[in-house]
Amino acid sequence: MKKYIGAIDQGTTSSRFIIFDNEANIIAKDQLEHEQIYPKSGWVEHDPIEIWEKTQKVIIGGISKSGIFPNDLETVGITNQRETTIVWNRHTGKPYYNAIVWQDVRTKDICKKIEEKYGELINKKTGLKVNTYFSASKIKWILDNIKGVREDAEKGDAIFGTIDTWILWNLTGGVRNGKHITEPTNASRTLLMNIDTLEWDEELLKIFDIPQAMLPEIKSSSEVYGKCKGILENISIGGILGDQQSALFGQTCFEKGDAKNTYGTGCFLLTNTGENKILSGNGLLTTVAYKIGDNKVHYALEGSIAIAGALVQWLRDNLGIIENSSQIEELAEKVEDNSGVFFVPAFSGLFAPYWEDTARGTIVGMTRYTNKNHIARAALESTAFQTRDVIEVMEKETGVKIKELKVDGGMVVNNLLMQFQSDILNVPVIKPRVTETTALGAAYAAGLAVNVWSSTDELKKHWSIDKKFKSKMKEAKRKDLYKNWKKAIDKSIGWID
Ligand code: ADP
Repeated sequence: MKKYIGAIDQGTTSSRFIIFDNEANIIAKDQLEHEQIYPKSGWVEHDPIEIWEKTQKVIIGGISKSGIFPNDLETVGITNQRETTIVWNRHTGKPYYNAIVWQDVRTKDICKKIEEKYGELINKKTGLKVNTYFSASKIKWILDNIKGVREDAEKGDAIFGTIDTWILWNLTGGVRNGKHITEPTNASRTLLMNIDTLEWDEELLKIFDIPQAMLPEIKSSSEVYGKCKGILENISIGGILGDQQSALFGQTCFEKGDAKNTYGTGCFLLTNTGENKILSGNGLLTTVAYKIGDNKVHYALEGSIAIAGALVQWLRDNLGIIENSSQIEELAEKVEDNSGVFFVPAFSGLFAPYWEDTARGTIVGMTRYTNKNHIARAALESTAFQTRDVIEVMEKETGVKIKELKVDGGMVVNNLLMQFQSDILNVPVIKPRVTETTALGAAYAAGLAVNVWSSTDELKKHWSIDKKFKSKMKEAKRKDLYKNWKKAIDKSIGWID
């Protein structure tokens, strides 16, 4: 018998609601973009109320397109942009400040000071680096800069959540006793959770001066957290996974050594390292991959790239050389190669494996011959080069050679990029039948909690290949291109103090 599972995918650029059946087919989907707010250089915010409103709209949109009734949904899962930080009042439901987005670098100075003093300890406890990317310094900024929040937080009136928690709280009743809950994949991105115990860590809370009373309860990634009130009335929420871990789950990367790369706003390569965590000495992050109910936690190593699809948006919104994202491929196809142009999109510094706050966006190698087609091509290629940077380190850390790369995310519709990715890595790049793997992972986590599926083994049957890109590039050219990319990286680093 057909069963239906919903997935809310609240991403950096848009919110989606996707309905899957129990064979992982997409039945219906609705999607809405939300505003990116840039109050100052380096600051990135979202309006939490807009996010909640758009989430509700896409739920309604998805259900009406599907032809099923809300009651036909067995359960709903949530996946979300990670680290993005909201503090709101539990009695009014109003946020004290906009959501501070993962890309926001306003807390650079806070992080620098804490890194100097506690960097090693924090890395050991969390698997992360002290960086603006993660939630802790963003919470601290709100507590220190917005009047009255700290007082309210100490009383337990001002509460914190990453986007999963915000959506779950609103879905389960909001001011009328909404559930204030998160799970380990999201909590592992805050810099406040101990990665071994999966609990909030008192010492870390003290370092960042964050009252424990404002934090959500950490449950597992797959269990019934509660039932919805209002929209989706009485439907359970059965699973939550941060977007990158959700894509890993949706790609059924359940075995040690299984890896995937997701090309969205940023680009994130994760390798499942099983029940053992690997602490990276080379710029990768250690993170929770998933914790299904009472089963043992699985860990992952992650290479995070801050700007991938966001560069395509930048060409559209800031330069205006394309009108929509898909046009970048048309431009890039008009030229045979990048003609020596390299574009390092270090808009907010460089993430893995460099972690250089001092880097800024850099285009090198231009001549009088260079035109917008070359810029478009160099922009696309930058995502593939950055992925190779991460893979080189990933192979070193895990000791496992990546033989093929499973891909997903908004950019994988771009065939030129996928071909170039295979060329520059010299391994096949594989696109699965369902590329909405982020949403699928959340549907899987939720479905497992209510026995739509019995085990992760059963889920593997639903994964199959849509398209395989094989390398066509000569080794000498690959070598030459990559060498020049590294030179471009050097130029971008140290641009600001
Ligand atoms: P997120 O979940 O981070 O919001 P998505 O997975 O939805 O991101 O991917 C959206 C990103 O993909 C956007 O940054 C957009 O610029 C990029 N994108 C969409 N279509 C294309 C395309 N045809 N070629 C290159 N990039 C694209």
